[in-house]
Amino acid sequence: MQATALLDAAGASVPCARSRAAEVPDPTGLLALYNRSGQPQAAIVSALAEPYRIKAVESVHVPTRAEREAAIADAGYNTFLLRSRDVYIDLLTDSGTGAMSDRQWSALMVGDEAYAGATSFYRLEAAVRDVYGFRYVVPTHQGRGAEHLISQILIKQGQYVPGNMYFTTTRAHQELAGGVFVDVIIDEAHDPRAPHPFKGNVDLAKLAGLIDRVGAANIAYVNVAVTVNMAGGQPVSMANLRAVSELCHRHNILLWCDATRLVENAYFIHEREEGYADRPVAEIVRAMMSYFDGCTMSGKKDALVNIGGFLAMNDESVLQRARELVVLFEGMPTYGGLAGRDMEAMAVGIREMVDDQYIAHRIHQVRYLGQQLLDAGVPIVEPIGGHAVFLDARRFLPHLDQELLPAQALAAQLYVDSGVRSMERGIVSAGRDPQTGRNHIPKLELVRLTIPRRVYTDRHMDVVAQSVIDVFGHREDIHGLRMVYEPPTLRFFNARFAPIRDGGPA
Ligand SMILES: *Cc1c(COP(=O)(O)O)cnc(C)c1O
Repeated sequence: MQATALLDAAGASVPCARSRAAEVPDPTGLLALYNRSGQPQAAIVSALAEPYRIKAVESVHVPTRAEREAAIADAGYNTFLLRSRDVYIDLLTDSGTGAMSDRQWSALMVGDEAYAGATSFYRLEAAVRDVYGFRYVVPTHQGRGAEHLISQILIKQGQYVPGNMYFTTTRAHQELAGGVFVDVIIDEAHDPRAPHPFKGNVDLAKLAGLIDRVGAANIAYVNVAVTVNMAGGQPVSMANLRAVSELCHRHNILLWCDATRLVENAYFIHEREEGYADRPVAEIVRAMMSYFDGCTMSGKKDALVNIGGFLAMNDESVLQRARELVVLFEGMPTYGGLAGRDMEAMAVGIREMVDDQYIAHRIHQVRYLGQQLLDAGVPIVEPIGGHAVFLDARRFLPHLDQELLPAQALAAQLYVDSGVRSMERGIVSAGRDPQTGRNHIPKLELVRLTIPRRVYTDRHMDVVAQSVIDVFGHREDIHGLRMVYEPPTLRFFNARFAPIRDGGPA
């Protein structure tokens, strides 16, 4: 595969072949990264600046250093507990934080009262059929609503649910339904420096081995995320999806997709996988989805809305069960916890998300930030992923053991430095094993700088890069944290921490 060869040749420490871009404007050196010939594709060239005009603005307050120090202490050193009015550049999440387009805002007015047979539902259904290709859709209030439904429908007590790395809410719903998550992602995904172009791939030997060991009947379904959030926004290749689909369907195992960041994955296939360089993203999205029996979706990511999600599928018996359960947990199958206007905005967002220029710029903007950090020697997850740049807190803060919560401490310090809000994705997020009660010990100890869609300019990215580089220059001054309040589930959202100074409690 072309990209593999290039990445292998470049090596982890030389991520960018700048010289190849000599003939074309390439201020960041990014165009050359995955393109051997130095002839960038049209979509990438057009992505050099934001492909939109700003039509409405929201003023932000830049808090002083004293205000930031007080705010992070009030928040128990957990960036989730900061108030957003105390944040200058908010990279906590790309979930529900995207800017809606003028067309989406207009669509809000068209939304009908959502209850039985809402017209807005049928417009959403048409968008899902056109863009994803699934026959049926059941709306939910957000992605985890869909994860709840599918887990309750497909999992019997004690069954295994293999997946390409866990995601917090996904695994929580699988466990709630009595399932046991098994990680079948390739080993490279757990290594922040492995230069693999499709680090989200399923390890077919791991999956086949599990099927042999426990038997297909003990596997509820296989759940594949595209891209893989917790691995650093890493994509899955089309070839891998094809192979996983063949393996599952040979054993009559359903294959489900976490399609939350599907379009980003499709763009990486367009860039990196043989045979897709001249295929529009919309076509790649349809091809990817053709390998799955259905998907869960958080509209708050790819679909460019502030709230919404859905479960989509081809199978009528799954649809029937989903319709039975959705009335219990979300609402009628024609609104699933959403207002008509929410479904309208999501229907428009689903069509906008597959615009080639939009998605090219999004991926480019993430890379633009990541490349500045690489150039300054800041350790990040490579290759740079689709929705976020992940700081590698193990290498950033080698003086802090993992039980001193280095990623949590780094996220807090970055906020104090510049008012940039990020998120811990390490030992705190990983939580405890429900059987043994012991902490999961993830190999990856990361801080996620997540880029909202169509919200910040590349200039904001410069400010973020400068702050991270500044904190990196003073990294020895960062002390560990200890947890002083630990919620029983999804603890990272509400946990509180206190600084540890000179080895003892502050
Ligand atoms: C955000 C997310 C979810 C859950 O979606 P919500 O809309 O937040 O409930 C599921 N999977 C992945 C990969 C996500 O990033």
